[in-house]
Amino acid sequence: MFFSCAKEQPARLTVQEEQFDYNVEQFADLGVLRYQVTDWDSLSLQQKSLIYCLNEAALYGRDILFDQNNRYNLAIRRTLEAVYANYKGDTASADYQAFAVYLKRVWFSNGIHHHYGEEKFLPGFSKEFFTNAVKSLDSTLVPRRENQSVDTFLDEIIPVMFQPELYAKKVNQDSGIDVIAGSANNYYGEGVTQKEVELFYNAMKNPNDSTPVPFGLNSRLIKKDGKLVEEIYKTGGLYSPAIEKIVYWLEEAGKYAENPQQKKAIELLVDFYKTGDLKKYDEYSIAWVKDTESVVDFVNGFTESYGDALGLKASWEALVNFKDLQATAKTKVISENAQWFEDHSPVAPQFKKENVKGVSAKTITATILGGDCYPATPIGINLPNSNWIRKEYGSKSVTISNITEAYDKAAAGNGFLDEFVCCPAEKEIMEKFGSQTDNLHTDLHECLGHASGQLLPGVNSDALNIYGSTIEEARADLFGLYYIPDPKILEIGLLNNPEAYKAEYYKYMMNGLITQLSRIEPGKQIEEAHMRNRSLIAHWVLERGQANKVAELVKKDGKTYVVINDYEKMRTLIGELLAEVQRIKSEGDFAAAKQLVEQYGVKVDLELHKEVRERYDKLGIAPYKGFVNPVYEAVKDKQGNIIDIRISYKEGYAEQMMRYSEDYSPLPTYNGK
Ligand code: ZN
Repeated sequence: MFFSCAKEQPARLTVQEEQFDYNVEQFADLGVLRYQVTDWDSLSLQQKSLIYCLNEAALYGRDILFDQNNRYNLAIRRTLEAVYANYKGDTASADYQAFAVYLKRVWFSNGIHHHYGEEKFLPGFSKEFFTNAVKSLDSTLVPRRENQSVDTFLDEIIPVMFQPELYAKKVNQDSGIDVIAGSANNYYGEGVTQKEVELFYNAMKNPNDSTPVPFGLNSRLIKKDGKLVEEIYKTGGLYSPAIEKIVYWLEEAGKYAENPQQKKAIELLVDFYKTGDLKKYDEYSIAWVKDTESVVDFVNGFTESYGDALGLKASWEALVNFKDLQATAKTKVISENAQWFEDHSPVAPQFKKENVKGVSAKTITATILGGDCYPATPIGINLPNSNWIRKEYGSKSVTISNITEAYDKAAAGNGFLDEFVCCPAEKEIMEKFGSQTDNLHTDLHECLGHASGQLLPGVNSDALNIYGSTIEEARADLFGLYYIPDPKILEIGLLNNPEAYKAEYYKYMMNGLITQLSRIEPGKQIEEAHMRNRSLIAHWVLERGQANKVAELVKKDGKTYVVINDYEKMRTLIGELLAEVQRIKSEGDFAAAKQLVEQYGVKVDLELHKEVRERYDKLGIAPYKGFVNPVYEAVKDKQGNIIDIRISYKEGYAEQMMRYSEDYSPLPTYNGK
């Protein structure tokens, strides 16, 4: 059910030096980068105008995501911003410095929980500092509830910010707990339990319905007078002030649509926002997936459900883009051969698709990131998520070339490979092919991996429950890993060296076993689905290959490295795991999914973890990256017609966040019941 993903980007070397400044700033475990919109001037004025309107629609949903992530996020953000804009004290003090970092983290994570690790991060400044700073503000600037004093406001939000146990995890999937009550997100009201949610939505499902809508996707489920009720996200419903703005800009965008199919998709999306009707949402998804001719494209809406422990509620996200024609030629080759790849995979025949439909793949240039794609963004997206729509109409799969380019350029020469790669031969291969094979693996993951395989008749698509998204990501990654060394890849011109795949194999093992640990807070386990998936694959291969020493962890001078002794055998193991993971998915084998994920995907070796974090610290590399957007300015003639859209890259991180909070912040501080 989860198809968008964020493969992480480890460092790579590039040869080209650019004038463009890709690195913006760094704080905590986060690095802020800038991306370039290459070929902007190749677009027509109509296309630029369309993008401009879609960009505006993409920026207006930011508050929705803050509120979805936790019901106090808007109150906290607005308080912090008021202090930031009006602070009269010593900005060199340790408290103020820690305050600025905390605010930057809240912006980056769209709330008080780490955007990737899901845990609440704590302020590095004192309660006294914060209390004094808020009390010295003009009281009208403090986002209080109606008739609330500044004191009682502080009494309410200080524990939310400072108490570690309160709202500790945005999404909590620990086994054996109530994952709804245990999660700090705002998709469910107070007192709603996991059991109640499951009963509520199961009652809506009709087992004979072959085209089910995604129940629960666009609502908050609350308890009112002891009864469960949905508060629907729509015009006139929950989040209406933001949705009205989004609708306005989508309607404007419709005027510049490139063709009737695109216009139809935009209109259906508007209908969905106005009615909240999930049937309309499915109609929109179908119209959107059929629009393959347009140069300009977009994601805008309640899309991915990683933020909900039960995978029902979707966070708001947006991304506007246009086709990168040169790079798209490559993904086209992959999708043209989709059936060949499906037929030749090591998966059992009954779990394969007889006809792999509509794997439309393209490479895109992002023009704006919004909602759950901002500032941290996926580098590949595959939508829509509805299983039956994917089966009947196919899906659109994209990789975002100007984002991967920015990662590459920003990481040039940061010492990462020297620190973590075991041997000169591997290092050389990674320098030579790492960037190429990493992009290829993303393409294979998105265009083939997620699109491959089928459920056996009667298997519920939610059967794997909380393990569903990890298994789905593992399936897509394994499919890509299995094929990267295949002669077919050389034959169709996707790589030109039979050794190149080793760069991806080495990187994958190094990342899954060692370097991704840099992203985990001390004492925590692995939570996020893509990270669990990488850990699962790498640890499984390590264990199964032990007898033949396929791969091993070795220690040199107190540092741990991966050594791969037998790449060919490693591919065989990848194929075995792919077959098993597809079986689990196809049969809906919950017990096997649980066993695999819990045994290989979750646990962290404490000693290795500590070592990796120290090595990262020494290099000064931020484990997580995000982006500031370019600034777009509409140039108009005297009659108010757009005559050009100008793009610039000067805006800083805090500057951009403060501007968005000023200009694109229509929601009240407190939403819903
Ligand atoms: Zn994925």
